[in-house]
Amino acid sequence: MELKIELTKNPKKKPDTDILGFGKYFSDHMFIMDYSEDKGWHDARIVPYDTISYEPAIMVFHYGQAIFEGLKAYKAKGEVVLFRPDENFKRLNNSCEALCIPKIDVQFAIDSLKKLVDIDRDWVPDSPGTSLYIRPFIIATEPHVGVHPSSNYQFIIITGPVGAYYKEGINPVKIYVEQKYVRAVKGGLGEAKASANYAASLKAQQEAAEKGYTQVLWLDGVERKYIEEVGTMNVFFVLGNEIVTPALNGSILPGITRKSCLELLRSWGLNVSERKISIQEIYEAHEKGQLKEAFGTGTAAVISPIGELCWNDKCITLSDGQIGEISHSLYDNLTGIQYTDVADPFGWVVKV
Ligand SMILES: *Cc1c(COP(=O)(O)O)cnc(C)c1O
Repeated sequence: MELKIELTKNPKKKPDTDILGFGKYFSDHMFIMDYSEDKGWHDARIVPYDTISYEPAIMVFHYGQAIFEGLKAYKAKGEVVLFRPDENFKRLNNSCEALCIPKIDVQFAIDSLKKLVDIDRDWVPDSPGTSLYIRPFIIATEPHVGVHPSSNYQFIIITGPVGAYYKEGINPVKIYVEQKYVRAVKGGLGEAKASANYAASLKAQQEAAEKGYTQVLWLDGVERKYIEEVGTMNVFFVLGNEIVTPALNGSILPGITRKSCLELLRSWGLNVSERKISIQEIYEAHEKGQLKEAFGTGTAAVISPIGELCWNDKCITLSDGQIGEISHSLYDNLTGIQYTDVADPFGWVVKV
């Protein structure tokens, strides 16, 4: 498919690195592609970043048929690189499947993304820990009030510079084990990166924040016993010499950082398992002195060490509130590969 390109005539002023934060600034260009039943995916174009107007009746506004992705471009020794972009677009297609959205061509999406990032390569910041955040998403654009899968869609990619997630190095966070609300259930949308999952998580997150916690730890939606994820990250525990993360069960989002951590840990010859794990087991391991560390994994923060867990008003401190050894090695190695400071034996890094 042809990719049309229209460059901006009014380049924006780029923000200073120290005020970047996350998700506040957007680069000069965006990618858009339309879908209709008669033409399929068509009219792929890179155009200046701007407002888009829609009829108030488009279906995404009413029935939430929306999915997204999140990945980053890094400035690495003067070059611009992406981290496993194929994984993101394959996962986008899995989300398409879950929400009755027509799939996209993975290779065409990667090529278009490379072109978009190339055009805005000056927007990729180069201070330590900064990157260009990339947000691909698909929304239902058929103007129709009535519930059925939309017959029109738009696939859009926007990008923007983001700051270092941790300003003073990686900090352990305080986690609330959620008992009242659930994020997802097997048979629902949990394993799709659907906007709806985020809508469903807001109330729990807000109440946890009011109590002084950074994130919630989600338990399974049926028995409220088994661990699923932490906030918008996958979660790992170090129990004695076993490193364990909940097995993908249909309601857990299959994170690419999770997958990369598993591959790294296995390549180091460590004892890693993906299995069912109850919150009870974590507390028992803690009592026996076997709970060494816990951490979340996701594109935004990479590794987020858990310093404190609170379940049923019982709070426990992990790794003395410090960053554990495994968390630290994973953070250093993953970011090392992403910024091309350490070797990439897996071929994860893709040059733009
Ligand atoms: C995106 C996401 C993750 C992390 O996935 P990565 O590919 O590692 O960024 C974990 N959980 C949820 C619910 C997510 O939406």
